[in-house]
Amino acid sequence: AAKEQGKNRYQFFDASMDEHIATKVNLEYGLRRAIEQYELQIHYQPMFNLECNEVTGVEALLRWNHSEYGLVPPSKFIPLAEETGLIMKIGDWVLREACLQLKRWNEQGLTSLKLSVNVSTLQFLQKGFVERVNAILKETWIDPQYLELEITESTMMDANEVIPILRKLKKSGIQISVDDFGSGYSSLSHLTKLPIDVLKIDRMFVEAIGNEKRDMAILSTIIALAHSLNLKVVAEGVETELQFKALKERGCNIIQGYYISKPLPVDIFNEEMIEKCKL
Ligand code: C2E
Ligand code: CA
Ligand code: CA
Ligand code: CA
Repeated sequence: AAKEQGKNRYQFFDASMDEHIATKVNLEYGLRRAIEQYELQIHYQPMFNLECNEVTGVEALLRWNHSEYGLVPPSKFIPLAEETGLIMKIGDWVLREACLQLKRWNEQGLTSLKLSVNVSTLQFLQKGFVERVNAILKETWIDPQYLELEITESTMMDANEVIPILRKLKKSGIQISVDDFGSGYSSLSHLTKLPIDVLKIDRMFVEAIGNEKRDMAILSTIIALAHSLNLKVVAEGVETELQFKALKERGCNIIQGYYISKPLPVDIFNEEMIEKCKL
């Protein structure tokens, strides 16, 4: 019976492997057409400023509404977009669409709202990246100081490679945020070499709030050191009042998470969030 079971298990694994490969091929095929088919959408998550108790920014988060599979999470298709090089086209699309939306919000009276856009490693290191960002800002009439690019800590590992690109972005007046800080191996001393503006603390640290004293000490240290380097601190993944209070007490500047709001499509954002935004 054990052997029988083993065999079935093997066949099951095999079948799901095939399915897995088929899905990946289908996804890649679909992703190539997603922009033209209007299947890509951006949701916006408010960034709540603890100094003024208002929403002072939004993070653009990409969504793919696949005609057959429904909503495909970014964790499934961003890596695929990177593997296939489609991330260049998709990345440009996200930046342009989000800038156009920021323009609409400006026209609705939200003139100081900041826009954060995620940038993948390949996109960031691609030749001509800064020039394309500048062209999109010009084309959409967005003042560069209202754009913040979120670049992951892991992208920034090789200082020699990234510093020239960061300098060019800074020279254009664009803000730089280190996303997922603390999830990799970089240290705060590494960051002192980089021309950056914001440290975005990984959700992992926020989750640890209330669990262990040591984790809390690490969080306090990160915030204090970031401030001593003149960086603003954003905490992501804030879900509870306890986390909210702990971060506020420790001087965190901005929080983001389900405690404030999930990422929202524009129409819902306009219904639920606009009155919470700083004018
Ligand atoms: P990220 O940049 O670290 O984004 C934060 C993720 O946490 C988002 O997941 C967001 O929906 C989720 N989140 C926000 N608040 C909470 C909370 O309180 N609790 C929990 N559990 N989660 C929360 P999402 O939207 O699924 O995006 C996942 C990742 O996909 C992003 O991680 C980012 O790395 C990538 N991504 C999304 N949009 C883009 C894009 O336009 N370009 C690129 N290159 N990557 C993107
Ligand atoms: Ca991000
Ligand atoms: Ca993050
Ligand atoms: Ca992340």
